[in-house]
Amino acid sequence: MVPTPDQPSPGVPARSLAYLHAVDVGRVKWIRGKRAAALKSSGIRSVTDLLLHAPRRHIDRSRRLAIGELAVGDEATVIGRVERVSVRRPRPRMSIVEATVSDGHGSIKAVWFNQQYQARRLERGIEVALSGRIDRYRGRLQINSPAVDVLESGPDNLAVGRVVPVYRTIGSIGTGVLRLAVHNALLRSRPILDPLPDGLLERHELVPREEAINSIHFPESLAEVSAARRRLVFDEFFRHEVALAMTRKRNESDSVGIAHRLHPEPDLVERFIDGLPFQLTGAQRRVIDEIGADMAAPVPMHRLLHGEVGSGKTVVAVAALLVGVQSGYQAAIMAPTEVLAEQHYEGVTRLLSEARMAPRFAGPRSLFDPAHDDPDRPRIKVALLTGSRADTNRRERPGRSGLLAGIAAGEVDIVIGTHALIQEGVRFARLGAAVVDEQHRFGVHQRVKLKEKAQGADPDLLIMTATPIPRTLSMTLYGALDVSALDEMPAGRKRVRTWSVSAVGEELERAHQSIRDEVEKGRQAFVVCPLVEDSDRVEAASAIAEFRRLRRVFPDLRLGLLHGQMRSEEKRSVMDGFRSGDLDVLVSTTVIEVGVDVPNATIMVIRDADRFGLSQLHQLRGRVGRGAHPAQCVLLADPTTKDGAARISAMESMSDGYRLAEEDLRIRGHGTVFGARQSGFSDLRIADILADEAELSAARQEAFDLVDGDPRLDAHPDIREEVRVLLGDEVEWLFKS
Ligand code: ADP
Ligand code: MG
Repeated sequence: MVPTPDQPSPGVPARSLAYLHAVDVGRVKWIRGKRAAALKSSGIRSVTDLLLHAPRRHIDRSRRLAIGELAVGDEATVIGRVERVSVRRPRPRMSIVEATVSDGHGSIKAVWFNQQYQARRLERGIEVALSGRIDRYRGRLQINSPAVDVLESGPDNLAVGRVVPVYRTIGSIGTGVLRLAVHNALLRSRPILDPLPDGLLERHELVPREEAINSIHFPESLAEVSAARRRLVFDEFFRHEVALAMTRKRNESDSVGIAHRLHPEPDLVERFIDGLPFQLTGAQRRVIDEIGADMAAPVPMHRLLHGEVGSGKTVVAVAALLVGVQSGYQAAIMAPTEVLAEQHYEGVTRLLSEARMAPRFAGPRSLFDPAHDDPDRPRIKVALLTGSRADTNRRERPGRSGLLAGIAAGEVDIVIGTHALIQEGVRFARLGAAVVDEQHRFGVHQRVKLKEKAQGADPDLLIMTATPIPRTLSMTLYGALDVSALDEMPAGRKRVRTWSVSAVGEELERAHQSIRDEVEKGRQAFVVCPLVEDSDRVEAASAIAEFRRLRRVFPDLRLGLLHGQMRSEEKRSVMDGFRSGDLDVLVSTTVIEVGVDVPNATIMVIRDADRFGLSQLHQLRGRVGRGAHPAQCVLLADPTTKDGAARISAMESMSDGYRLAEEDLRIRGHGTVFGARQSGFSDLRIADILADEAELSAARQEAFDLVDGDPRLDAHPDIREEVRVLLGDEVEWLFKS
């Protein structure tokens, strides 16, 4: 008998998923001992886990025919006893398994090609259900490569006469046993409580929970499966989004923010924007407004800014910093590496001087003496502080300790450094705004400990990332943050022509020739060497080898070498040489991926390109095409895997980072993205963040509305318990007072 959502037995209270999560899966009939251990090691520990373990697919066996009634062309299920099994090997690489199955009225031959394992399951005398298409061969009916079900307890069970779930095999537990176990668990769990309000179900046309769980496994018809799945997908997202909404509420209520001033006199942001030698893009304008509104609010900002390489994030970051400065606070940018911190320093000071807001170098004055500052023409004092450099945008060089004293005294407006420096070493007088640059380090969003730097109030926080993240993914990865996207490039950017060639013979020559052509036109080239997972040393060795090889190919050109094993002094001098045009070709490892800006470089050749991830290739390619000249990217690749080939062709056909990021997810599967994450919630079993975007948006809206009206879910204890129990350790802190 198959459970149907009929009347529950009177007097039995409905069980919640939280309650069923406390029941060990080993207590389910058919799941004992070894089987329980196998299920647990694949993550199915409780009855809830088992109920939410959706089948891979279903087979419609509602049409069962006696063997004598079969006709050629039928898609049918045959039930019978195995009478004979044989394996033949007509050729070395071919096996044919044949079985004869009889139902007492007639018999039919079943044939499988190259599926020798079928012979191990099919013993003479056992009862089986075979589903497939009926054919004729040499005058007799035959069923080719049918799906097989070994019927453990006779034909009168869950495997025949209905739509049958097919599960992924777990350890030695086949689909037949899982079907029996799930069925048993379902019978014993009913009635199952539905914690979602009726109004919500109606708004989104969702079926009740018990019906969904029932028909994801044992639907009456295939049509029921998709409605069931949609409800379960919604539930997964909803739990996740409730946790995110609660996280956000907690962040807000646990902290005191700063209400920054938006249009004081003088308005530094306006002055900065007016002074720039270019017009802001619409996206930059919009995002600067979004950030301004956040910063003016008395609640600390937690905002993610994402935008393509070259979309102009630095301008936006400077505007945010200036909102802080014009309100009388200090501001900081934190970068993950020294190279990047320096790059930001160059970028920020250049933009400020373009806007004529850099300090004037008028005569010898004491370093941080504010006395000479004209209040109508404020000049922004910027400092760089890394392990190897301490600098300011004034002429004076105060040295490290002078700089630290200046920051502590509140005389420096903007401090740029690495995460570590700013988080630990530096004392600020009044830190009011911080920009954290995460580059492409996707997913890492540990709460930055900045409170003590701001005298009790939480500075406003803007996290920048260059990884174009599909919208759905950013909603889940960074769901507790607000998100701003720079989804528009400054005018005049050209597409980088991207083509791939084999790394051998004539094709390699073509790549060499293209480098030479560019250099002869006065341009410069990057050659990037392959990524070596977890080994800077091996990576460096391959760059050195490539450098030597290219010296023989281009004896007349000026070549430079850059890799992670070089000292920072050496690196800087090579980079300076390339920037100033003293080098024609820069051979490097992926160290150049981060933020290098040399507009005269117009060609990039990437070796073993198929071994890079798509987002990394995209980052790399972003190093060229930054100037007035047309640029190209040559992928040297001889892909050995399907995924590798798919990535190369994606790079050739797409230039939009968002589309590439989605493609990347599609190629890798979103599971890896979640798996690689360092923090966050990982309860997605059925849902697919790309395919189920509509459910994600709906669940997010509902979850945030719910938590807005009831931040601790006091009025929704069942939802609270479910989130708490199913999401586990990740969310436990939300429930402590
Ligand atoms: P990102 O940090 O997003 O990669 P940057 O902020 O470094 O990009 O900007 C890349 C380049 O584009 C810089 O040289 C910057 O001055 C310039 N830029 C930024 N915004 C604009 C704009 N609206 N119009 C023209 N050029 C711009
Ligand atoms: Mg604020």
